[in-house]
Amino acid sequence: MNLGLRGAGGNRHTSPMEFFGHIIDGEEVPSIDGQTTPDVDPSTREPWAQAALGSSIDADRAVAAARSAFDSGPWPRMGFEQRQQILHRLADLMEANAQELALADTRDMGKPITQAHHDVSRSALNVRFFADHARMSVAEALPMDSGHHAYTTYGPAGVAVAISPWNFPLMLGTWKVAPALAWGNTVVLKPAEDTPASATIWARLALDAGMPPGVLNVVHGYGPDSVGSALTANPDVDRISFTGESNTGKVISAAASRNLTPVSLELGGKGANLIFDDADLDNAVHWAVQAIFRNAGQVCLAGSRLYVQEGIFDEFMRRYVSAAQALRIGDPKDPATEFGPLASQAHFEKVSNYFDTLSTDGGRMLTGGVGEGWLVKPSIIVDAPADARVCREEIFGPVVVVHPFDTEDEVIGLANNTPYGLNAMVFTENLSRAHRVSERLHAGTVWVNCFFIRDLRAPFGGVGHSGVGREGGDFSREFFTEPKAVVMQINRSS
Ligand code: NAD
Repeated sequence: MNLGLRGAGGNRHTSPMEFFGHIIDGEEVPSIDGQTTPDVDPSTREPWAQAALGSSIDADRAVAAARSAFDSGPWPRMGFEQRQQILHRLADLMEANAQELALADTRDMGKPITQAHHDVSRSALNVRFFADHARMSVAEALPMDSGHHAYTTYGPAGVAVAISPWNFPLMLGTWKVAPALAWGNTVVLKPAEDTPASATIWARLALDAGMPPGVLNVVHGYGPDSVGSALTANPDVDRISFTGESNTGKVISAAASRNLTPVSLELGGKGANLIFDDADLDNAVHWAVQAIFRNAGQVCLAGSRLYVQEGIFDEFMRRYVSAAQALRIGDPKDPATEFGPLASQAHFEKVSNYFDTLSTDGGRMLTGGVGEGWLVKPSIIVDAPADARVCREEIFGPVVVVHPFDTEDEVIGLANNTPYGLNAMVFTENLSRAHRVSERLHAGTVWVNCFFIRDLRAPFGGVGHSGVGREGGDFSREFFTEPKAVVMQINRSS
């Protein structure tokens, strides 16, 4: 594996610290102005690597490379089978280099290494799934009764920009980029500024797998007034797929509208988790813990509002608090660790500031609070009024607010009382109730008696402030292609 700069006239970075450059037109390159940024490990709060810090010039260079690879390179023209083979080779290389990829995300954002390995497996699956899905897709043939015949084709849209957040760096990057590539687009990926490493490693592997230059470009840097805004303003971009905060989504949507560039937005959440009194308690406690404390709650899908029916409230809470307290907190690089620090100092400050709101807004912490360094312990809050900030805002950390409820109607009203609508969970052994409640919840995904389980064919996205559009399976095809109708006269005699 090439750990230094490749190409660019053979320059290699000489610092003993690992360096992650941009990948532009098949070369690993520094920023035009030479700017770099330290890549900080949240568990030591020290830099473990350096990354290129790009500007709008680097962003424009990457778009130009992707444009040229799309307009005159082999990738959009080579056909599904050849692209499928290259993408599967890439997935093989990801699996062979799983430890390096997992460690990169763990060091970049403090994710426990076992969870990072899970992300790498899922990332390789993203690549394999969309490679196969594109190859297996069928298009509509529409026999007409007027002596004409119509059919649909799905051609690549062109240059796709993917902008991803720091909480699942590799997994969310691959989730956007894999379908774009499988359908023959060329791509510029901008990972979050705090988590550059796995994207560069992944793009190196793509070149090793035989992906032609310019097909997958990676540019590192900030969003506003920098790489991110340059990518979203570039008229040579045909699609923008964004995952991140709802407010950033609004800015990106406005920027894209100036060029009428289609956008897909996967945004924030404030997931409701409904535990009915007929639930299997062991199962419900297990998933309620996972739903808010996995990845230290830095999950858009987090079940950060927990509603527990009166009859089981005390018993559920006894088990829930004890399960939360039993999570193994430690060094994210230790495979035994279940819970690590937050991703950055800024994020630690944002999350821990919510504890100060309890004295003004109301609410009582049963367990949790801040720990050493950037650690926020698994935190459970009760007695917070519905209008308290901890109940309304996306905290994006290991902080859950718990409320008792009495009836089904009441809890549906509580769950839907949010501008977000990414996902919800329902725990009940009553089949009719499971269907009834799932139908009435305003959410893009409802999990019944489980959490986080995905079928990549299913639509993924949110309603309200949680997003615009859906990705996954045919939904990704819809976004990353231009469907075309061909109508043909077939009854001419000569
Ligand atoms: P963020 O919106 O701050 O940043 C996300 C990405 O957008 C980063 O790469 C950032 O550099 C870039 N960016 C920021 N401003 C930009 C601008 N003006 N123009 C272009 N790019 C810009 O989000 P974050 O803090 O990295 O991630 C956390 C958020 O992401 C949470 O709200 C979380 O719920 C959401 N999220 C959603 C999903 C989902 O699938 N719906 C998944 C994961 C995270």
